[in-house]
Amino acid sequence: MNGKHYIDGEWTDKGNDTIKVMNPATGEQVGTVPNGGEAEATAAVEAAAAAFPEWSKTTAYERAKLLMKWHDLLLEHKEEIGEILTKEMGKPLKEAIGEIEYSASFISWFAEEGKRVYGRTVPASSDSKRIQVTKQPVGVVASITPWNFPAAMMARKMAPALAAGCTFVSKPAKMTPLTAVRVFELAEEAGFPKGVINLVTGSASKIGKVFTSHPSVRKLTFTGSTEIGKELMKQSSETMINLSLELGGHAPIIVLDDADLDKAVKGVMASKFRNAGQTCVCGNRIYVQESIVDAFSEKLQKAAGQLKVGNGLEEGVDIGPLVDKDGYEKVERHVKDAVEKGAKVLVGGDGKAENDAYFYNPTVLTGANEGMLVMFEETFGPVAPIMSFKTDEEAVKLANDTRFGLASYFFTESMTRGTYLAEHLEYGIVGWNDGAPSAAQAPFGGMKESGIGREGGQEGLEAFLETKYISIQL
Ligand code: ADP
Repeated sequence: MNGKHYIDGEWTDKGNDTIKVMNPATGEQVGTVPNGGEAEATAAVEAAAAAFPEWSKTTAYERAKLLMKWHDLLLEHKEEIGEILTKEMGKPLKEAIGEIEYSASFISWFAEEGKRVYGRTVPASSDSKRIQVTKQPVGVVASITPWNFPAAMMARKMAPALAAGCTFVSKPAKMTPLTAVRVFELAEEAGFPKGVINLVTGSASKIGKVFTSHPSVRKLTFTGSTEIGKELMKQSSETMINLSLELGGHAPIIVLDDADLDKAVKGVMASKFRNAGQTCVCGNRIYVQESIVDAFSEKLQKAAGQLKVGNGLEEGVDIGPLVDKDGYEKVERHVKDAVEKGAKVLVGGDGKAENDAYFYNPTVLTGANEGMLVMFEETFGPVAPIMSFKTDEEAVKLANDTRFGLASYFFTESMTRGTYLAEHLEYGIVGWNDGAPSAAQAPFGGMKESGIGREGGQEGLEAFLETKYISIQL
């Protein structure tokens, strides 16, 4: 499949050259997209700016109709897009199809929520004044998204932006642009007017520069690493653009001694091994209370040992390849460092790298300690290091001892202990006996260096609205 840019209602392959899209499970080429840069990004932003006045005047009901059409088309084509997603990114087909369903859930939820953009009236200080507060779409939105959820990260930005009345320019990750192309083809089929949605593939830094410097862009929404998020924030100071940043995480999982162990293992498996550990909300480090650490580790070892590793297109595969060589080497480095510092490998601890395909086996480590890389750096791989702790207070302290604050998880059957943990964890997302808390109707996002703003829920729509205060002197 060879993709193109979608600019002002036209498919075009302008650009310096092409980018090859590779299959991380086989090392084979899946297709190409144009390597766009400044010129293409500028054309896309200008098309979005030209379309904004008309689009922002449509009613939320009209926008919802188009969004729902797009939603239905995505679900009709979920198997086909899922296959493209697996081929360019590696996750197992059932997870890829699940991602398309998850993407569609944002579109239908925001299609409805767009109808509930309320303003308010506020009592004034004198009888001759009236105060109104209204909401308006921010304007042209630019989006930069990563490779680990090629459809969902884009959909959860695009759906609320369009529902709010904004126009949109998307730059998907270099490694996974083909899913985005297919999602855009279906959006075109749904009937969005020309210029309302635009897609530019190519050089991240060149396109990013246009997004942060072009005076017509009013909002940049980004999901990716904390490092690039900081860079974009610096660049954005020139235009004082509105920013939403979903950045890195280093999620702790705490298992208290009164936890239902089967529930905890199920939750840890869902959080840790989904997408081969390549999500920013994947549990990275597991703290288990002393008295149950052996029983828990044994159960987790058993469950992890049953996962099937392989090409995501094959039946029954649970863990696909890591996205590239760098990703694989990072996982290897983390495990090696942990073992050198005294961790014991219960299962896994090795992988297979051949023909530019990098598979790492699900790994459970015990005897982890704070000095190990895996306990303070994002691993982005299928490695579960277990460290023991004594008291609930100690667990919270260990969990909060990081510059990240995206997702956290804990397992306990006690309302009192759970409430203490939920209230003291410095994280935007807390999963209580729940290893998979993401949902379209809930606000997703991080504290500290994990970012700014929330996606999903009411907050996810608010992110694309400006507040205007109108003071009326009668
Ligand atoms: P990840 O670890 O998820 O690859 P990155 O932050 O490196 O995180 O990449 C996320 C997205 O940001 C990708 O689409 C990538 O192409 C883009 N990106 C990388 N570098 C820059 C940059 N300097 N300016 C703008 N976007 C960038």
